[in-house]
Order: sequence, then C-alpha cells, then structure tokens
Amino acid sequence: MRNDIERVLIDEEVIEKRLDTMAAEIERNFPEGPLVVIILLKGALVFAADLLRRVPRVLEIECLNVASYHGGVESSGRVDFLDRHFPEVRGHHVLLLDDILDTGRTLHAVKERLLEEGAEAVHTAVLLAKDKQRAEEVSADYVGFEIGDEFVVGYGLDYQGKYRNLPYVGVLKLSVTH
Ligand code: 5GP
Ligand code: MG
Repeated sequence: MRNDIERVLIDEEVIEKRLDTMAAEIERNFPEGPLVVIILLKGALVFAADLLRRVPRVLEIECLNVASYHGGVESSGRVDFLDRHFPEVRGHHVLLLDDILDTGRTLHAVKERLLEEGAEAVHTAVLLAKDKQRAEEVSADYVGFEIGDEFVVGYGLDYQGKYRNLPYVGVLKLSVTH
C-alpha cells in the first residue's frame, strides 16, 4: 500500500497531536447536557474513532450513510440519504463529523436536514478542509488541517474503496489513478 503513495501530506504523529487539541476545544465549547455525534460513513470512521476517544463526556454516537454526486450527470450536485431511519436529534446539540470539506455540498445538505429534524444546534468538525471556493456557503466549526486542492487518501479517505486504513494522509502516485 505504501508503494502507491507519492507523498505523505500529514503523518500519524501530527494528526494525533492535532486531535488532542480539537478534542479539548470541543470539550470546552459544548454546553453541559447530552450531545449527539453523527459520523458520516465511511470516510469519517477513522477520524471519529480517534477524536471521540479523546472527548471525556457522555456522547450518543450515530452514523449516517450519504452519497454525493459531484459534476457528471448531476451538474448542480446532489446528496442522497441512504439510511431507512434518521437518528433522533430533536432538541439536541449535534456534532457532525466528516472526513473532508471539499465542495461543501455534503456538510451543507446534512446540516440542513438535521435542523429540519429539529436539532437544537448543529456543529461540524472535519479532519481536512480544502482551501478552495465552495459550491455551498458552509464552513466547519472545527478543522483539523487545511490542505491544498488535491486528491488525498488515508486516515479514512479512500480511492475506489481502498487506502482508508493508511495511518496518515497522503497523495497517490499518478500511476495508480491513471
Ligand atoms: P463535498 O460534499 O464537500 O464536496 O465532499 C465531501 C466528500 O467528498 C467527502 O466526504 C469525501 O468522501 C469526498 N472527497 C472530497 N475530496 C476528497 C479527497 O481529496 N479524497 C477523497 N478520498 N475523498 C474526497
Ligand atoms: Mg465520503
């Protein structure tokens, strides 16, 4: 797997240190009371597992499966909710976790839906945010790392379903994607 990586962008140690800080910020900023955490599958799995174990408070953890279609047939972009049941969030503070903020469509759509479902407030945290113009006016409340506008894998992020279990964030060799 390491052979397919052109360059490591953020190594494991750096990610772990950053997660300590993010978890402390989250712990400090959230009001007392129940907090529902929503993990966007599958990309946010690794980030969520490592971040949430650093947050010493009572959490209710839920997962959501969404599919986003960028460009291609659907030029406006669309986000589909794939689960039969939506987590109960009415009156709750919600912390929404995703792997990466790119066009912003996913976070925007899920946040809107959570508010429609009656969430008291929706806060968002992402491991990575691409430094670019977003299709949707959305930013994350907690960002692990700002990165350039390039395709990355590892630490939950995949290419064709692979590389999610790399312990770091990296860029694939051109020979892998071409
Ligand atoms: P957005 O809706 O913000 O455009 O995109 C969010 C989703 O697109 C992420 O959850 C992720 O699945 C995918 N994505 C965006 N950029 C990258 C990237 O650089 N690498 C990988 N592996 N997935 C990405
Ligand atoms: Mg994803």
